Amino acid sequence: MEVSIEYSAKLLNEANDIVLTTHIHPDGDALGSLLACYEYLSAQGKKVRMIIDDEVPRAFKFLSGSGKIEQPPITPVTPDLFVVLDASDLERVGKVSTVVKAPILNIDHHISNVKFADYWYIDSRAAATGEMIFKIFKQENANITGGMAEALFTAIATDCGFFRYANTSSDTLQFASELVALGAKPNVISEQLDTKPRVVVEMLPSVLKTLEIVECGQARQIASITLTKELASKLKDETEGFIDYPRNIDGVDIAIMFKEADTNNIRVSLRSKTADVSKLALSFGGGGHARAAGCTIAENLDRAKYLVVEAAKAQLFAGH
Ligand code: 5GP
Ligand code: MN
Ligand code: MN
Repeated sequence: MEVSIEYSAKLLNEANDIVLTTHIHPDGDALGSLLACYEYLSAQGKKVRMIIDDEVPRAFKFLSGSGKIEQPPITPVTPDLFVVLDASDLERVGKVSTVVKAPILNIDHHISNVKFADYWYIDSRAAATGEMIFKIFKQENANITGGMAEALFTAIATDCGFFRYANTSSDTLQFASELVALGAKPNVISEQLDTKPRVVVEMLPSVLKTLEIVECGQARQIASITLTKELASKLKDETEGFIDYPRNIDGVDIAIMFKEADTNNIRVSLRSKTADVSKLALSFGGGGHARAAGCTIAENLDRAKYLVVEAAKAQLFAGH
Protein backbone atom coordinates (compact mmCIF):
# COMPACT_ATOMS: atom_id res chain seq x y z
CA MET A 1 0.00 0.00 0.00
CA GLU A 2 1.03 3.57 -0.55
CA VAL A 3 2.42 5.18 2.61
CA SER A 4 3.20 8.73 3.65
CA ILE A 5 6.55 10.01 4.80
CA GLU A 6 5.23 9.84 8.40
CA TYR A 7 4.20 6.20 8.02
CA SER A 8 7.55 5.33 6.41
CA ALA A 9 9.29 6.86 9.43
CA LYS A 10 7.01 4.88 11.76
CA LEU A 11 7.85 1.60 9.98
CA LEU A 12 11.57 2.37 10.30
CA ASN A 13 11.19 3.34 13.96
CA GLU A 14 9.22 0.24 14.89
CA ALA A 15 11.53 -2.30 13.24
CA ASN A 16 14.51 -3.51 15.26
CA ASP A 17 16.12 -5.78 12.72
CA ILE A 18 16.40 -4.20 9.28
CA VAL A 19 18.01 -5.12 5.96
CA LEU A 20 18.67 -2.25 3.54
CA THR A 21 19.28 -2.75 -0.15
CA THR A 22 19.41 -0.86 -3.43
CA HIS A 23 19.70 -1.53 -7.14
CA ILE A 24 22.43 -3.39 -9.04
CA HIS A 25 25.04 -1.21 -10.76
CA PRO A 26 24.58 1.13 -7.79
CA ASP A 27 24.98 4.85 -8.43
CA GLY A 28 25.51 7.79 -6.08
CA ASP A 29 21.84 8.03 -5.13
CA ALA A 30 21.61 4.31 -4.43
CA LEU A 31 24.72 4.18 -2.23
CA GLY A 32 24.32 7.59 -0.61
CA SER A 33 20.73 6.82 0.42
CA LEU A 34 21.74 3.35 1.64
CA LEU A 35 24.65 4.57 3.77
CA ALA A 36 22.75 7.51 5.26
CA CYS A 37 19.89 5.19 6.27
CA TYR A 38 22.35 2.70 7.72
CA GLU A 39 23.97 5.29 9.95
CA TYR A 40 20.62 6.76 11.02
CA LEU A 41 19.16 3.36 11.99
CA SER A 42 22.37 1.95 13.55
CA ALA A 43 22.65 5.02 15.78
CA GLN A 44 19.31 3.99 17.29
CA GLY A 45 20.81 0.68 18.43
CA LYS A 46 18.96 -1.36 15.82
CA LYS A 47 20.41 -4.41 14.08
CA VAL A 48 20.96 -3.20 10.52
CA ARG A 49 22.63 -4.78 7.49
CA MET A 50 23.28 -3.37 4.02
CA ILE A 51 23.15 -6.12 1.38
CA ILE A 52 23.53 -5.44 -2.35
CA ASP A 53 23.99 -7.75 -5.32
CA ASP A 54 27.12 -5.98 -6.57
CA GLU A 55 30.49 -4.65 -5.53
CA VAL A 56 30.69 -1.00 -4.45
CA PRO A 57 32.14 0.85 -7.48
CA ARG A 58 35.61 2.28 -6.81
CA ALA A 59 34.38 5.88 -7.17
CA PHE A 60 32.04 5.54 -4.16
CA LYS A 61 34.39 3.84 -1.72
CA PHE A 62 35.18 7.19 -0.09
CA LEU A 63 31.68 7.29 1.44
CA SER A 64 31.84 6.43 5.11
CA GLY A 65 30.50 2.96 5.93
CA SER A 66 30.87 1.66 2.36
CA GLY A 67 33.18 -1.10 3.65
CA LYS A 68 30.26 -2.51 5.67
CA ILE A 69 28.15 -3.24 2.58
CA GLU A 70 27.71 -6.99 2.18
CA GLN A 71 26.97 -9.20 -0.81
CA PRO A 72 23.97 -11.57 -0.59
CA PRO A 73 24.56 -14.50 1.77
CA ILE A 74 23.56 -18.03 0.76
CA THR A 75 21.24 -18.65 3.69
CA PRO A 76 17.96 -16.74 3.99
CA VAL A 77 17.79 -13.59 6.12
CA THR A 78 14.56 -12.77 7.96
CA PRO A 79 14.62 -9.27 9.47
CA ASP A 80 11.52 -7.33 10.64
CA LEU A 81 11.70 -4.98 7.65
CA PHE A 82 13.37 -5.05 4.23
CA VAL A 83 13.96 -1.54 2.89
CA VAL A 84 14.48 -1.22 -0.88
CA LEU A 85 15.93 2.15 -1.88
CA ASP A 86 16.04 3.85 -5.29
CA ALA A 87 14.74 0.76 -7.12
CA SER A 88 11.58 0.79 -9.21
CA ASP A 89 11.09 -2.95 -9.48
CA LEU A 90 12.24 -5.98 -7.50
CA GLU A 91 14.41 -7.39 -10.31
CA ARG A 92 16.57 -4.29 -9.93
CA VAL A 93 17.90 -5.57 -6.60
CA GLY A 94 19.05 -8.86 -8.11
CA LYS A 95 19.60 -11.89 -5.85
CA VAL A 96 18.95 -9.92 -2.65
CA SER A 97 15.20 -10.28 -3.21
CA THR A 98 15.42 -14.06 -3.10
CA VAL A 99 17.53 -14.14 0.09
CA VAL A 100 15.74 -11.59 2.27
CA LYS A 101 12.29 -12.55 3.49
CA ALA A 102 10.40 -9.72 5.22
CA PRO A 103 7.77 -7.05 4.56
CA ILE A 104 9.18 -4.60 2.03
CA LEU A 105 9.24 -0.82 2.35
CA ASN A 106 10.22 0.76 -0.98
CA ILE A 107 11.44 4.36 -0.95
CA ASP A 108 11.92 5.54 -4.53
CA HIS A 109 11.55 8.42 -6.97
CA HIS A 110 11.25 6.64 -10.35
CA ILE A 111 8.25 7.52 -12.49
CA SER A 112 8.42 3.92 -13.78
CA ASN A 113 7.98 2.40 -10.28
CA VAL A 114 5.81 -0.72 -10.52
CA LYS A 115 4.63 -0.62 -6.86
CA PHE A 116 5.94 -4.07 -6.02
CA ALA A 117 6.42 -3.55 -2.28
CA ASP A 118 4.15 -4.12 0.74
CA TYR A 119 4.57 -0.42 1.57
CA TRP A 120 5.72 2.18 -0.93
CA TYR A 121 6.71 5.79 -0.47
CA ILE A 122 7.23 7.11 -3.99
CA ASP A 123 7.76 10.71 -5.03
CA SER A 124 8.56 11.08 -8.70
CA ARG A 125 9.08 14.83 -8.23
CA ALA A 126 12.04 14.20 -5.97
CA ALA A 127 15.33 14.59 -7.85
CA ALA A 128 16.81 11.72 -5.87
CA THR A 129 15.85 9.09 -3.31
CA GLY A 130 18.37 10.95 -1.13
CA GLU A 131 15.94 13.91 -0.99
CA MET A 132 13.22 11.64 0.37
CA ILE A 133 15.56 10.17 2.98
CA PHE A 134 16.64 13.66 4.03
CA LYS A 135 12.97 14.64 4.44
CA ILE A 136 12.43 11.62 6.71
CA PHE A 137 15.47 12.61 8.81
CA LYS A 138 14.25 16.20 9.09
CA GLN A 139 10.80 15.16 10.14
CA GLU A 140 12.26 12.81 12.77
CA ASN A 141 14.69 15.49 14.01
CA ALA A 142 17.50 13.04 13.36
CA ASN A 143 21.06 13.82 14.37
CA ILE A 144 22.65 14.17 10.92
CA THR A 145 26.40 13.55 11.12
CA GLY A 146 28.98 14.84 8.63
CA GLY A 147 29.13 11.35 7.12
CA MET A 148 25.36 11.24 6.62
CA ALA A 149 25.39 14.74 5.11
CA GLU A 150 28.16 13.70 2.70
CA ALA A 151 26.24 10.56 1.70
CA LEU A 152 22.99 12.49 1.11
CA PHE A 153 24.72 15.31 -0.78
CA THR A 154 26.34 12.67 -3.02
CA ALA A 155 22.94 11.02 -3.54
CA ILE A 156 21.21 14.24 -4.53
CA ALA A 157 24.04 15.83 -6.55
CA THR A 158 24.77 12.74 -8.66
CA ASP A 159 21.12 12.19 -9.64
CA CYS A 160 20.64 15.79 -10.83
CA GLY A 161 23.97 16.10 -12.64
CA PHE A 162 25.32 18.39 -9.94
CA PHE A 163 22.27 20.65 -10.12
CA ARG A 164 22.13 20.94 -13.91
CA TYR A 165 19.33 18.55 -14.97
CA ALA A 166 15.64 19.36 -15.29
CA ASN A 167 14.86 17.52 -12.03
CA THR A 168 16.82 20.14 -10.03
CA SER A 169 14.14 21.97 -8.04
CA SER A 170 14.33 24.73 -5.49
CA ASP A 171 13.92 21.98 -2.86
CA THR A 172 16.94 20.20 -4.35
CA LEU A 173 19.08 23.30 -3.92
CA GLN A 174 17.63 23.99 -0.47
CA PHE A 175 18.46 20.46 0.70
CA ALA A 176 21.94 20.73 -0.79
CA SER A 177 22.48 23.98 1.08
CA GLU A 178 21.36 22.42 4.36
CA LEU A 179 23.62 19.41 3.78
CA VAL A 180 26.62 21.67 3.18
CA ALA A 181 25.81 23.43 6.46
CA LEU A 182 25.80 19.95 8.08
CA GLY A 183 29.29 19.19 6.82
CA ALA A 184 29.06 17.96 3.19
CA LYS A 185 31.93 19.37 1.11
CA PRO A 186 30.94 19.70 -2.58
CA ASN A 187 34.56 20.14 -3.76
CA VAL A 188 35.74 17.01 -1.93
CA ILE A 189 32.79 14.95 -3.18
CA SER A 190 33.09 16.06 -6.81
CA GLU A 191 36.84 15.52 -6.82
CA GLN A 192 36.33 11.98 -5.52
CA LEU A 193 33.71 11.30 -8.19
CA ASP A 194 35.68 12.86 -11.07
CA THR A 195 38.95 11.05 -10.35
CA LYS A 196 39.37 8.10 -12.68
CA PRO A 197 42.09 5.61 -13.56
CA ARG A 198 44.45 6.80 -16.31
CA VAL A 199 43.25 4.07 -18.70
CA VAL A 200 39.72 5.50 -18.73
CA VAL A 201 41.00 8.83 -20.06
CA GLU A 202 43.35 7.09 -22.48
CA MET A 203 40.48 5.04 -23.92
CA LEU A 204 38.34 8.09 -24.65
CA PRO A 205 39.41 8.35 -28.34
CA SER A 206 38.43 4.68 -28.88
CA VAL A 207 35.04 5.33 -27.27
CA LEU A 208 34.36 8.48 -29.30
CA LYS A 209 35.28 6.69 -32.54
CA THR A 210 32.15 4.56 -32.08
CA LEU A 211 29.86 7.60 -32.32
CA GLU A 212 26.93 7.11 -34.72
CA ILE A 213 24.26 9.69 -35.54
CA VAL A 214 20.81 9.07 -37.03
CA GLU A 215 18.69 11.92 -38.46
CA CYS A 216 15.04 11.86 -37.38
CA GLY A 217 13.53 14.92 -39.06
CA GLN A 218 12.88 18.36 -37.61
CA ALA A 219 16.59 18.69 -36.81
CA ARG A 220 16.29 15.98 -34.17
CA GLN A 221 18.93 13.31 -34.01
CA ILE A 222 19.78 10.13 -32.15
CA ALA A 223 23.42 9.71 -31.21
CA SER A 224 24.94 6.52 -29.86
CA ILE A 225 28.24 5.20 -28.62
CA THR A 226 29.05 1.52 -28.36
CA LEU A 227 31.33 -0.29 -25.96
CA THR A 228 32.15 -3.77 -27.20
CA LYS A 229 33.06 -6.41 -24.67
CA GLU A 230 36.76 -5.72 -25.26
CA LEU A 231 36.42 -1.99 -24.79
CA ALA A 232 34.12 -2.40 -21.77
CA SER A 233 36.51 -4.80 -20.05
CA LYS A 234 39.43 -2.40 -20.50
CA LEU A 235 37.27 0.31 -18.91
CA LYS A 236 36.34 -1.94 -15.96
CA ASP A 237 32.85 -0.47 -15.67
CA GLU A 238 34.23 3.07 -15.31
CA THR A 239 31.87 4.33 -18.01
CA GLU A 240 30.15 7.08 -16.02
CA GLY A 241 29.94 10.29 -18.01
CA PHE A 242 30.64 8.85 -21.47
CA ILE A 243 27.01 9.25 -22.48
CA ASP A 244 27.32 13.02 -22.02
CA TYR A 245 29.41 13.22 -25.20
CA PRO A 246 26.61 12.10 -27.57
CA ARG A 247 24.04 13.87 -25.40
CA ASN A 248 25.80 17.23 -25.64
CA ILE A 249 25.98 17.29 -29.45
CA ASP A 250 23.95 20.11 -30.97
CA GLY A 251 20.71 18.73 -32.49
CA VAL A 252 20.80 15.44 -30.59
CA ASP A 253 17.65 14.63 -28.64
CA ILE A 254 18.16 11.00 -27.66
CA ALA A 255 21.61 9.72 -26.64
CA ILE A 256 22.29 6.03 -26.21
CA MET A 257 25.22 4.07 -24.83
CA PHE A 258 25.35 0.38 -25.67
CA LYS A 259 27.58 -1.68 -23.42
CA GLU A 260 28.22 -5.32 -24.22
CA ALA A 261 28.45 -6.79 -20.71
CA ASP A 262 28.51 -10.20 -22.37
CA THR A 263 27.31 -11.80 -25.60
CA ASN A 264 23.51 -11.44 -25.58
CA ASN A 265 23.64 -9.16 -22.52
CA ILE A 266 23.59 -5.56 -23.63
CA ARG A 267 23.27 -2.73 -21.10
CA VAL A 268 21.58 0.28 -22.60
CA SER A 269 21.75 3.78 -21.12
CA LEU A 270 19.38 6.41 -22.45
CA ARG A 271 19.43 10.19 -22.07
CA SER A 272 17.30 12.83 -23.76
CA LYS A 273 16.69 16.53 -24.05
CA THR A 274 12.93 16.41 -24.77
CA ALA A 275 11.81 12.81 -25.49
CA ASP A 276 10.52 10.61 -22.65
CA VAL A 277 13.15 7.84 -22.64
CA SER A 278 11.59 6.11 -19.61
CA LYS A 279 8.89 4.88 -22.04
CA LEU A 280 11.55 3.62 -24.41
CA ALA A 281 13.33 1.82 -21.55
CA LEU A 282 10.05 0.35 -20.24
CA SER A 283 9.27 -1.09 -23.68
CA PHE A 284 12.46 -3.17 -23.29
CA GLY A 285 11.71 -4.20 -19.69
CA GLY A 286 13.81 -1.44 -18.09
CA GLY A 287 12.82 1.88 -16.59
CA GLY A 288 14.02 5.16 -15.19
CA HIS A 289 13.16 8.82 -15.59
CA ALA A 290 11.94 10.90 -18.54
CA ARG A 291 15.44 12.23 -19.28
CA ALA A 292 17.57 9.33 -18.01
CA ALA A 293 16.63 5.69 -18.24
CA GLY A 294 18.08 2.29 -18.99
CA CYS A 295 17.44 -1.35 -19.79
CA THR A 296 19.22 -4.63 -20.47
CA ILE A 297 18.61 -6.52 -23.71
CA ALA A 298 19.22 -10.24 -24.15
CA GLU A 299 20.23 -10.04 -27.82
CA ASN A 300 23.55 -9.73 -29.58
CA LEU A 301 25.06 -6.27 -29.86
CA ASP A 302 24.02 -5.57 -33.47
CA ARG A 303 20.45 -6.74 -32.91
CA ALA A 304 20.11 -4.78 -29.64
CA LYS A 305 21.39 -1.65 -31.39
CA TYR A 306 18.97 -2.13 -34.26
CA LEU A 307 15.97 -2.67 -31.94
CA VAL A 308 16.66 0.31 -29.68
CA VAL A 309 17.56 2.75 -32.46
CA GLU A 310 14.43 1.77 -34.44
CA ALA A 311 12.25 2.27 -31.33
CA ALA A 312 13.92 5.61 -30.61
CA LYS A 313 13.40 6.70 -34.23
CA ALA A 314 9.73 5.73 -34.07
CA GLN A 315 9.36 7.75 -30.88
CA LEU A 316 11.01 10.86 -32.35
CA PHE A 317 9.07 10.62 -35.62
CA ALA A 318 5.85 10.26 -33.59
CA GLY A 319 6.80 13.52 -31.89
CA HIS A 320 7.25 12.26 -28.29
P1 5GP B 1 22.02 4.64 -16.14
O1 5GP B 1 21.96 4.91 -17.61
O2 5GP B 1 22.78 5.70 -15.42
O3 5GP B 1 22.44 3.24 -15.83
O4 5GP B 1 20.52 4.73 -15.62
C1 5GP B 1 19.74 5.88 -15.78
C2 5GP B 1 18.47 5.77 -14.98
O5 5GP B 1 17.65 4.71 -15.45
C3 5GP B 1 18.69 5.50 -13.50
O6 5GP B 1 17.75 6.28 -12.79
C4 5GP B 1 18.39 4.05 -13.32
O7 5GP B 1 17.88 3.82 -12.05
C5 5GP B 1 17.40 3.74 -14.43
N1 5GP B 1 17.67 2.43 -15.01
C6 5GP B 1 18.79 2.06 -15.68
N2 5GP B 1 18.72 0.78 -16.06
C7 5GP B 1 17.54 0.30 -15.63
C8 5GP B 1 16.88 -0.99 -15.71
O8 5GP B 1 17.39 -1.96 -16.28
N3 5GP B 1 15.66 -1.07 -15.12
C9 5GP B 1 15.07 -0.02 -14.48
N4 5GP B 1 13.86 -0.21 -13.92
N5 5GP B 1 15.65 1.19 -14.39
C10 5GP B 1 16.86 1.36 -14.95
MN1 MN C 1 19.89 5.03 -8.93
MN1 MN D 1 17.84 7.83 -7.97
